[in-house]
Amino acid sequence: MQEYIDKAEQSLLHTYNRYQIVFDHGQGVHLYDTDGKAYLDFCAGIAVNALGYGDAELEKELIDALSDQVRKVTHISNYYYSVPAMEAATKLTKVAQMDRVFFTNSGAEAIEGVIKTARKYAYLKDGSTDHEIIAMDHSFHGRTMGALSVTGNAHYREAFEPMIGNIRFATMNDFDSVLALVNDKTCAILLETVQGEGGIHPADGEFLQKLRKLCDEKDILLMFDEIQCGMGRCGAMFAWQLYGVRPDVMATAKALGCGVPVGAFMMTEKVAKASLVAGDHGSTYGGNPLVCRAISTVLDLFEKRNLTDHVKEVGEYLTEKLDALAAKHDQIVERRGIGLMQGLEFSCEVGPILLKCLEKGLVLINAGTNIIRFVPPLVIEKEDVDEMIDILEECLS
Ligand SMILES: *Cc1c(COP(=O)(O)O)cnc(C)c1O
Repeated sequence: MQEYIDKAEQSLLHTYNRYQIVFDHGQGVHLYDTDGKAYLDFCAGIAVNALGYGDAELEKELIDALSDQVRKVTHISNYYYSVPAMEAATKLTKVAQMDRVFFTNSGAEAIEGVIKTARKYAYLKDGSTDHEIIAMDHSFHGRTMGALSVTGNAHYREAFEPMIGNIRFATMNDFDSVLALVNDKTCAILLETVQGEGGIHPADGEFLQKLRKLCDEKDILLMFDEIQCGMGRCGAMFAWQLYGVRPDVMATAKALGCGVPVGAFMMTEKVAKASLVAGDHGSTYGGNPLVCRAISTVLDLFEKRNLTDHVKEVGEYLTEKLDALAAKHDQIVERRGIGLMQGLEFSCEVGPILLKCLEKGLVLINAGTNIIRFVPPLVIEKEDVDEMIDILEECLS
């Protein structure tokens, strides 16, 4: 592996401190490196590979569908319609309880669309161009300039200033901190329903309900970033469905294509009718037949396997096991999360623990320096949780 790594480091821009592993392929919920060593995968390519890797049904449905689409046509242009885009749009808006969708190529781009929607919506109301968006501290929304501007972590932003203007930051789950920032210029409130990179912090139900009421009263758009917490990860297709607080605009990506790079932003008909129109937004690749065929097939497989119920069941089991682990080990401060999106906060840095886990064949990642993040494929079984806990516990001691 070292040869591949040395070679890669000669050409790749060094924007990641990568683990010293070259992965080759996956099977079930395991990844294999180029030496043939197996790893239990509790990272899933950062909450992307929800369906795991290459089991019989996946092989048959997703891989066949993608192969078929590659043979037919991978890309046309948004100047024309395609059957896969029609199907993906119909199925996705249905499970998301939204009316309109725009397909993007990544999560960050979905956030760009969300920001543009909010600004256009407000612009059409009063013609002014100084509207403000309220986002949350410790949020993460992506690395493009717009998405970075609403990301509540100064460390990510600093070298790239100036950001886009008129973004204000409130404190997650502190309604008064939001209220203090609201004024006549406020056009939208943006938050992750469950903060991911910021350390696995779920929203409080009461906080979301108060935001919904405030937004309704003032005609402010409530916008949820469900890029990490959505697509079944929390035990509902989208996390906000667990809270019963429907946003006006939302973003998804990560598991949407289960490894095929695609994102989307969606909105209600009310917002669609009063925001982006022809000429306002576009993407050459966005929603091409290949990625839309992936979305469409992924959504079919989610339904066929009843994945949200499966996540509820295995998520509860994972929660129990992590709580038990936290009770046993002094260095664990707290467990947080919903379903198969969990975090363990430690009183120490977790880097060395993660390296030890990798050595023992377990892929785990962090979210911040002192939090271990658990975002496995959604198809894991209880036995996989047991195996993960055994390895982690061994590494902790
Ligand atoms: C990963 C992530 C993004 C950015 O998605 P990319 O596909 O990496 O651009 C945005 N928001 C959240 C909550 C994420 O987890």
